[in-house]
Amino acid sequence: MSKRVLITGAAGFLGSHLCDRFIKEGYHVIGIDNLITGDLANIEHLFKLEQFEFYNHDVTKFVHVPGKLDYILHFASPASPIDYLKIPIQTLKVGSLGTHNLLGLAKEKNARILIASTSEVYGDPLVHPQTEDYYGNVNTIGPRGVYDEAKRFQESITMAYHRFHGLETRIVRIFNTYGPRMRLNDGRVIPAFMGQALRGEDLTIFGDGLQTRSFCYVDDQIEGIYRLLMSDYALPVNIGNPDEITIKDFAEEIIKLTGTDQKIIYKDLPVDDPMQRKPDISLAKEILGWEATVPRSEGMKKTFEYFKSLTKEQLHKSEHKDFSKHIVK
Ligand code: UDP
Repeated sequence: MSKRVLITGAAGFLGSHLCDRFIKEGYHVIGIDNLITGDLANIEHLFKLEQFEFYNHDVTKFVHVPGKLDYILHFASPASPIDYLKIPIQTLKVGSLGTHNLLGLAKEKNARILIASTSEVYGDPLVHPQTEDYYGNVNTIGPRGVYDEAKRFQESITMAYHRFHGLETRIVRIFNTYGPRMRLNDGRVIPAFMGQALRGEDLTIFGDGLQTRSFCYVDDQIEGIYRLLMSDYALPVNIGNPDEITIKDFAEEIIKLTGTDQKIIYKDLPVDDPMQRKPDISLAKEILGWEATVPRSEGMKKTFEYFKSLTKEQLHKSEHKDFSKHIVK
């Protein structure tokens, strides 16, 4: 009998890529999503497979799955600043109550559970690059606090289940990840710039564009997560690509890549927007033998192909054009 894995957030960006990976590895995959930010189009191709099941369910409510489970991966959560603003309570609940339910399920099924944490636990970091032993600099009551604090609580309760109940747990701290199936209108910088280039609009840089990010291609991220799940390491591990770039330089790369002659316009910087972010991945290298291998130029080409393949209607259905006005001071 094949091994069984439960993936929450299965219709989301990372969740759907994880479903693909576990199907490829021969697992029986059970996906759960309440489709608030996920999209069934991301997993439509799996519905015809016998090894795939899907439940439209909100994991902040009691979760029941019949049969045995070997692994649980908890990837259900809004994951962009615009989503935290639109659905702050759900963001808090899925990281806290949702995680509690899934830990309870893992205990009941004697399953190993991996939870998706984030570089946001470091807040606007004062240590650079960020190592796992940095405690972070988070504004609990700012607009991003609903996500950051839910994820910090998630790490705490996961470690409590590990220490108190002896549950097998894994915690991945995911740094900015991109690739096909990102939601065009989620407000994040890559879909925002790609959508703007394809619609012939100016690219919007928030602040002076000197803030940095380090972008990891989705295939690398999935490989890191898979290796962490299979490892025996219970403490948090950063997974990301340390290739750091300013948002301004990144906008110029996008203009070159898309072959458009978009102008850059500047808007106010959102509240608590981290000034710098770059993972220290020494730990992942040491314990997982993992590092990112896809250069940004290659990953961005593939991502652009994906956004180009969207229909005109999808391209223009961008609800959040002026994201900055919602959360500037
Ligand atoms: N950003 C930008 N223009 C946009 C969207 C985002 O300049 O249209 C900036 C944003 O202020 C941040 C960076 O790009 O400094 C990355 O933003 P994103 O929302 O993708 O992720 P996060 O801030 O969570 O890393």
